[in-house]
Amino acid sequence: LTVAAAGLLTAGSLTACGGDSGGAAAGRPKPKIGVILPDSGSSNRWETADRRYLAAAFNAAGVDYDIQNAQNDKARFVTIAEQMITNGVTALMITNLDSGTGKTVLDKATQKGVATIDYDRPTLGGSAQYYVSFDNVAVGRLQGEGLVRCLTDKGVRNPVVAALNGAPTDNNAAQLKEGYDSVLGPKYAAGGYVKGPDQPVPEWNNTVGGTIFEQMLTQTGGRIDGVLAANDGLANAVISVLAKNKLNGRIPVTGQDADAQALQHILSGDQCMTVYKPIRQQAEAAAALAIALARGERKKVDQVFRDPEGNRDVPAVLLAAHPITREAVKNVIADGYVSKDAVCAGR
Ligand code: BGC
Repeated sequence: LTVAAAGLLTAGSLTACGGDSGGAAAGRPKPKIGVILPDSGSSNRWETADRRYLAAAFNAAGVDYDIQNAQNDKARFVTIAEQMITNGVTALMITNLDSGTGKTVLDKATQKGVATIDYDRPTLGGSAQYYVSFDNVAVGRLQGEGLVRCLTDKGVRNPVVAALNGAPTDNNAAQLKEGYDSVLGPKYAAGGYVKGPDQPVPEWNNTVGGTIFEQMLTQTGGRIDGVLAANDGLANAVISVLAKNKLNGRIPVTGQDADAQALQHILSGDQCMTVYKPIRQQAEAAAALAIALARGERKKVDQVFRDPEGNRDVPAVLLAAHPITREAVKNVIADGYVSKDAVCAGR
């Protein structure tokens, strides 16, 4: 059975023995947290990291929970949310597939008195009470700086840089782009760097990303010297295309998420860097807020996220991320994010 199911059993038996540390105050419904993750194909993180750390945090607090994955299906996303609300969640945490669906779900929850949190992706124009993520503009800056460093190390003159951006429906993708463009833009303007093809990848779809990159290579007659791939899934798609053309390891590629495969590619020299976002910190911060809200409490947080569509400042936790080049791969392992076996498999 799944970890989530095991967690439900644990939480249930604790309650049955009267030992639930989340014990409902008089007249208040028993705390229960619903989490909806977006998919499992755009990045490995959702099922391998987020689910694991969230479940661990809820189990540690002895609170009842239900974590589900919408598998990139918007209708299913809404259905899961409706079912969770019917089944009595008192707090709902979502990673939306787009702001429209996210808003529908958050509004339904709010109407029913269910507390809400945007997890990782903000719902623009939405009604979430908190937003928990990373400083994604800063993440993008690290990607841009990382690529510049790799190109400098390779001694490439006047490099043509291609950008494979994240989903247009994900505000994180826009923030990442804002970050890396703030590094690359001035270099294009100064004339040392050449702006190459620059395209978004719908739904962060890795397969589509590979096809788009193949077209970029064809269109430019192979004149691409560096690739800013918005996450590790897209970086992996790019590296596969480069490998088919015997160009892997010669053209620096960046990513983000520090997944095991990307770390392998960094060690083999096929990927130049990634950005490690300590998902455990994110999951623990979000879980702490969800648990407080589920119990009818409110926690103060220090940051805000400006929602440009809703014209409001959403109380936020925005964590810091770390650039990972070859020397730093061991830090990601030491942090427990990926196992040494997973990274060193086949080496
Ligand atoms: C997340 C990334 C992830 C991407 C694709 C973004 O919103 O911040 O970590 O790689 O979605 O799932």
